[in-house]
Amino acid sequence: MPTPSLAPIFIDGEWLRPTGLATTPVHNPSVGEVIAEAPMGGASEVDAAVRSAQAAFPGWMETPPIERARVLFRYRELLIKHFDEIAALISREHGKTRSEARGDLQRGIEVIEFATGIPSLLMGETLENAARGIDCEALRQPLGVCAGVTPFNFPAMVPMWMFPIAIACGNTFVLKPSEKVPLTAVRIVGLMTEAGLPKGVLNLVHGGPACVDALLSHPLVRAISFVGSTAIARHIYETGTRHGKRVQAAGGAKNFILIMPDADVDNTVAGVTGAAFGCAGERCMAGSTALVVGDAATRVLPTLVEATRAMKVGRTDLDTSQPEMGPVITAQHRDRIFSLLESGEKQGARVLIDGRRTRVADAPNGFYVGATIVEHPDPATNILMREEVFGPVLSVLRMGDLDAAIEIANKSSYGNGAAIFTRSGKAAREFKHRVKAGMVGINVGVPAALSYFPFSGWGDSFFGDLHVQGREGVYFYTQQKVTTTRWFSDGEGDIWRK
Ligand code: NAD
Repeated sequence: MPTPSLAPIFIDGEWLRPTGLATTPVHNPSVGEVIAEAPMGGASEVDAAVRSAQAAFPGWMETPPIERARVLFRYRELLIKHFDEIAALISREHGKTRSEARGDLQRGIEVIEFATGIPSLLMGETLENAARGIDCEALRQPLGVCAGVTPFNFPAMVPMWMFPIAIACGNTFVLKPSEKVPLTAVRIVGLMTEAGLPKGVLNLVHGGPACVDALLSHPLVRAISFVGSTAIARHIYETGTRHGKRVQAAGGAKNFILIMPDADVDNTVAGVTGAAFGCAGERCMAGSTALVVGDAATRVLPTLVEATRAMKVGRTDLDTSQPEMGPVITAQHRDRIFSLLESGEKQGARVLIDGRRTRVADAPNGFYVGATIVEHPDPATNILMREEVFGPVLSVLRMGDLDAAIEIANKSSYGNGAAIFTRSGKAAREFKHRVKAGMVGINVGVPAALSYFPFSGWGDSFFGDLHVQGREGVYFYTQQKVTTTRWFSDGEGDIWRK
């Protein structure tokens, strides 16, 4: 499908371009141009999408799991066939580099690969003779209509954390992607139809809070998956559960990287710069604060500063050349990053490398922030320690020892990821055991869980019980039924009294 000027919605197997709705611009952040408009749907679009999903549910639920898996096998092949084109689209509407866009899509494909194992994943449990002559069996059934609300920062991967597993489990789905990146969603939903998914099983709506609130309160929606900032995640969790829905809501983050004095310098610098500046810092697993322990300040910090200064920032929308880092999503987001840096400076942070000065010659209107390092004398009060910056800004704090560093990391209200760079097994073990985060990296800067593990944020990084991905994803999208069975011979009395 050609890139639409108004991103279409997809309801009951039909692409529609709703007229009369307010729209919001979709940018190519590399150059700051508007490339499409997203329609801001509301209750009526949501109701049509949910009703279509509800009508498709009985037929899809009865489709054997292996047949559902076959659609996903075909879907995977289509995504691979169109891999480069989709990666280019992600770069164009999001701004991440082509290799980051490829990673975004690849991680999504890995969820599909996991979900193709659904016949095994859905197998239940049985116990023969749970009581005399009585057998018990637990099986999993789909919930019905499930909905997904996703953020801008991984236009392919995050939606794919949700709908492939939900659909493999036998549910039907309504996706509401970020209004900032609707075009990737249009493309990946379209390919599901090409893969042979029956109409109504997957629907797509666009919009903002009104659209999301309509999903949260719709009586036919059984479960909501959300990924986005913490304030909205909390709102989704509270409102969704109040309406009796199952909710998994992943929020924002502030991830710490400990650099021990014995850390390998080159590998650590590569790991930390990748974690802090990859995807222009717009990652919930971004390593945004480096806790530099003891002599690591003299061994590692100078090389880290040098490598950061050398990072090439530029346009990601050209096929001919790619920089190391692209723009951030919008002008507003860039200005928010600038204003956080200003406040941080006023509260005593020292700017070692200032990305506010970065200019890209062939794209003067792009939304650029260069890689930035700030050092904080005061971890307790600085805004850059509390707020998720969600940009290419690395805070550095010097720490006396491992205990002090773990204490600082554990003061954060978030708990998505944490990493340590060291050669000491003892230090790594201590850190892994004590740090309050759901995903831990040992000499790995971005320890994002792969598709067969839960994406297991803690604290203000997650609201709910069952995380996205892996077996928890399957549990989230299914409900258990336990059957207790006994059979009587003719005239047999009460078996309990035997
Ligand atoms: P966001 O919270 O602004 O938006 C996320 C989604 O919520 C979008 O679809 C948006 O339309 C919708 N939304 C926005 N305001 C709403 C409101 N008032 N009511 C209902 N819905 C609303 O997040 P974003 O800026 O798109 O994404 C960045 C955030 O996502 C960061 O905080 C990042 O850490 C987080 N994130 C978390 C994870 C994770 O796994 N924990 C993964 C990716 C991104």
